[in-house]
Amino acid sequence: MFNFSAGPATLPLPVLKKAQEELVLYPGAGASVMEISHRSKAYDAIHAQAKQNIASLLDLTDAYQVMFLQGGASLQFSMIAMNFLAGQSADYIHTGSWASKAISEAKKHGEVKVAWNGKEENFVRVPRNDELKLDPNAAYVHFTSNETIQGVEYPVPPEVGGKPLFCDFSSSFLSGPVDVSKFSLIYAGAQKNVGPSGVVVVIVRKDLLERVPQGLPSMLDYRLMAENDSLYNTPPCFSVYIVGLVTSWLLEDMGGLEKVKAHNQKKAQLLYFAIDGSGGFYRGHAQKDSRSLMNVTFRLPEEALEKEFIGQATAQGLDGLKGHRSVGGCRASIYNAMPLEGCQALRDFMVEFQKKKG
Ligand SMILES: *Cc1c(COP(=O)(O)O)cnc(C)c1O
Repeated sequence: MFNFSAGPATLPLPVLKKAQEELVLYPGAGASVMEISHRSKAYDAIHAQAKQNIASLLDLTDAYQVMFLQGGASLQFSMIAMNFLAGQSADYIHTGSWASKAISEAKKHGEVKVAWNGKEENFVRVPRNDELKLDPNAAYVHFTSNETIQGVEYPVPPEVGGKPLFCDFSSSFLSGPVDVSKFSLIYAGAQKNVGPSGVVVVIVRKDLLERVPQGLPSMLDYRLMAENDSLYNTPPCFSVYIVGLVTSWLLEDMGGLEKVKAHNQKKAQLLYFAIDGSGGFYRGHAQKDSRSLMNVTFRLPEEALEKEFIGQATAQGLDGLKGHRSVGGCRASIYNAMPLEGCQALRDFMVEFQKKKG
């Protein structure tokens, strides 16, 4: 079947096959990846390779550190605030469900100023730069590159006038090239685009770590985690291993992020073209200039039809198309690992369904 689930999501088939091959006996380790010490040479190489792959894909300089942490992107909402907000204020751009959670958590640790709020428009777009109300004294500006639930994505990152820019990249990480030099901190739960659940990739500018206050719980202290190369305690070894395989696949099989982006655009265009060409039978949630390449959200004329659509699609091997419970409708999550054929099959199904019911 084609799996359009929002996360945990489709992984590349070559990655699953390789993991299967190596599951019982990791080459040179005499045991499974899940059975070896995180202080072993074999794991060291896995850890280093995953970091190196991410650095290569994003052209990272030495100014940045890649970390593998736990607690998901959700714990990053708190960790960011505990490390960089205490006693200050920060600007948050509110574009939907995930930005909202980031804001709620940050408020527990400092002052949050909402630089723009898309709520009144029902979160159908990202802001223009001239709409942002930025505070010159903000410790940082936080935004969500892709709102997984609403299907709203920034085509380019916001301009924030030199303020440290923090981004929740969970659902569009490594979906295309990014100029990381514009960012101070990026985090992404792996299970949308780069691996299984259990690990969150954090990329931080090393000079930012000087601001981390003393006395934080060790597991929530970026500086300590960085000093220990994410090996302060046992890391999620198996998840990091799969992130390594996925990022190798992005580099070697897909040919880097420019090509990944072109592939993603082609896939998303198939679906948006079907929506736009349906004469209003399918209605996209996001405004055209804020449409997500990763999560295509749309509605049908009635809820009953949406139910039927989802049911019939599942029966035909197109699974996971139900929209998030908070917004309803349909959502096709088409991350990096979704093949073009999956989007073609969904497009064909949409056309057929409309012929029967439209
Ligand atoms: C899924 C998601 C999260 C939450 O990730 P967890 O790993 O479940 O904590 C946060 N932000 C965005 C944009 C997401 O898509």
